[in-house]
Amino acid sequence: MKIYADNAATTKMCPAAIEAMLPFLDRIYGNPSSLHSVGQEAAEALADARQRIAACIGADPGEIVFTSGGSEADNQAILSAARLGQQQGRQHIISTAFEHHAVLHTLEKLKREGFEVTLLDVHENGIVLPHQVEEAIRENTCLVTVMYANNEIGTIQPIREIGAICRAKGVPFHTDAVQAAGHLPIHVGEQNLDLLSLSAHKFHGPKGVGVLYARKGIPLFPLIEGGAQERGRRAGTENLPAIMGMTAALELACSQIDENARHLTALRDQLIQGLAKIPHSVLNGDPVQRLPSNVNFCFEGIEGESLLLLLDDKGICASSGSACTSGSLDPSHVLLAIGRVHDIAHGSLRLSLSEETTEQEVEEIIRAVSEAVAYLREMSPIWRDLTSGKKHFIIQ
Ligand SMILES: *Cc1c(COP(=O)(O)O)cnc(C)c1O
Repeated sequence: MKIYADNAATTKMCPAAIEAMLPFLDRIYGNPSSLHSVGQEAAEALADARQRIAACIGADPGEIVFTSGGSEADNQAILSAARLGQQQGRQHIISTAFEHHAVLHTLEKLKREGFEVTLLDVHENGIVLPHQVEEAIRENTCLVTVMYANNEIGTIQPIREIGAICRAKGVPFHTDAVQAAGHLPIHVGEQNLDLLSLSAHKFHGPKGVGVLYARKGIPLFPLIEGGAQERGRRAGTENLPAIMGMTAALELACSQIDENARHLTALRDQLIQGLAKIPHSVLNGDPVQRLPSNVNFCFEGIEGESLLLLLDDKGICASSGSACTSGSLDPSHVLLAIGRVHDIAHGSLRLSLSEETTEQEVEEIIRAVSEAVAYLREMSPIWRDLTSGKKHFIIQ
């Protein structure tokens, strides 16, 4: 039996999402833009989905744009705010050093176009403080973008407070809520959000579909031209099966946020306690202000990639960080941002649980990781140097 502990990379679809999709892969095949009855049946379903998604986050249906996922929503949110800023002579953007690459790479692109970007320090616990945002805002700031929950270390950012500061200063605020949606409460009004991204495959919906919420009055510039779909904000025939699956998955996840959080927090803390017993290990990110599903550790003297392969042999699917950085030799930019040095950042392990994870599985993970770390250390020349005193331990 496999133990899947990589739910921050993607999740298994829930039966409700699959069931909601089936008629749209079969019977209801119309194009929502068609004026005939077959098209109108699809258009009605699309309108229904838009209204239900809006209800899940406290938005109006007109504020919901369907996208191909979180990356597209992040790109469009940031590029739209930048375009508007440019028109107003404001070319300064504030973000953090540990955003997802969909945000950071978009900001890099804007920097090459002449924008100034301030990346806020996230401190060792992986949390940005609202006053840092306040102090960084300038006359010419056209966007603040801070993620709701980090995808590698799970830390939860004070977005409501940051949103309030931005609102008071008249600066649009975007949050990448891809890791949070369906797992933490979202209310765009109460949380002072202007722009928000979410992605279905992170909450047991299908891949390749997501949402960009844009508050009424915040203009969106299309990334894709060619049609009047999504009120001209995103051209292309809507992926209706995926949208219906996403809608069912989000409704289900939102209805279970509290009970899932209770179940997962207990498992997470059991896992953290178990792994903390491994000598020279450290938990990455705040122990409390983190997603109920996220555990991220560094183990001194080992390579995260080797640990992953050993765990996979034992039937445990985990990650060393984000799926995008896996496969490259650079250590995680998130771990570097919270102050881990290169050698330590290389020995990282992210375990992300789901509602289906059991206590027995957590015990199994603790046993397997403990064994694998000990085994890798036995073979490691770095470990020999550390234990012989030739090198000093960084993690005590
Ligand atoms: C997964 C993820 C994304 C990208 O979403 P896709 O739908 O896979 O494009 C963006 N931001 C965060 C925080 C993520 O975890």
